[in-house]
Amino acid sequence: MTAYMDHKDLANETIDEGRAQQIADGVHRVLDRIAQAEMEAGREPGSVRLLAATKTRDVGEIMAAIDAGVRMIGENRPQEVIAKAEGLARQCAARGFSLGAAVGEDDVHDDNPEHHIPFHLIGQLQSNKIGKVLPVVETIESVDSLDLAQKIARRAVARGITAGVLLEVNESGEESKSGCDPAQAVDLAQQIGTLEGLDLQGLMTIGAHVDDEAVIRRGFAHLRETRDRILQAGTPGTAHCHELSMGMTNDMALAIAEGSTIVRVGTAIFGPRAFI
Ligand SMILES: *Cc1c(COP(=O)(O)O)cnc(C)c1O
Repeated sequence: MTAYMDHKDLANETIDEGRAQQIADGVHRVLDRIAQAEMEAGREPGSVRLLAATKTRDVGEIMAAIDAGVRMIGENRPQEVIAKAEGLARQCAARGFSLGAAVGEDDVHDDNPEHHIPFHLIGQLQSNKIGKVLPVVETIESVDSLDLAQKIARRAVARGITAGVLLEVNESGEESKSGCDPAQAVDLAQQIGTLEGLDLQGLMTIGAHVDDEAVIRRGFAHLRETRDRILQAGTPGTAHCHELSMGMTNDMALAIAEGSTIVRVGTAIFGPRAFI
């Protein structure tokens, strides 16, 4: 399918020490930036979690990030999830971590959340791939329609599981971006909340692709206000809708200032992507 998958073996588990050190340095820098932004925003230390955005990175690179302190990962493409799932789960188990939805399939797993690494899908999901990703990822951040939510719900019920979902909102209004219309987000969240098989955990957005920081911030602030309105209305199935997944390499400090609870960072950890 995607050309870069032909150029790079995403299941590769062995990387050289220099590369591992580069990634460790990236993780430490990002964790410092998050701590600094939390402090400047007057927020509780540790209130923002780092999700490593791992698209185009192989298993060895991702494990170097985990060894340096990353405790949540996110993939964009179902094909990448599938290519890496087995190696990641095995490498995580060897370190005493469970990964994603594969909880309980191995003896090392226990209920201690510190021994678990959440695995999210953060990119677009076509409905014919739902069945492939549900056994691996526990949360889908890119739900942007009732139709997709219903399809995930049906699959989850059939598997006897509850899938975490975030509602993706297109706060920037940029056509290239996925996500629902901000004007419909509250209504959509309330409908998703009623679906059996789903746990609505929050909202997600991608910051506006502009230089004007005020514009970027306004989108993040609006996502927070939307989350607050959903929680205040308190309709059935929305009580867990706390997460605000917003902020990437270039705008994480702005997102943290506006209440982000998850920042999704790729480039600042792993360096520039050689493929899309
Ligand atoms: C790639 C990606 C990120 C991380 O972007 P960087 O700029 O590399 O930090 C975050 N969220 C989504 C949805 C992405 O596709």
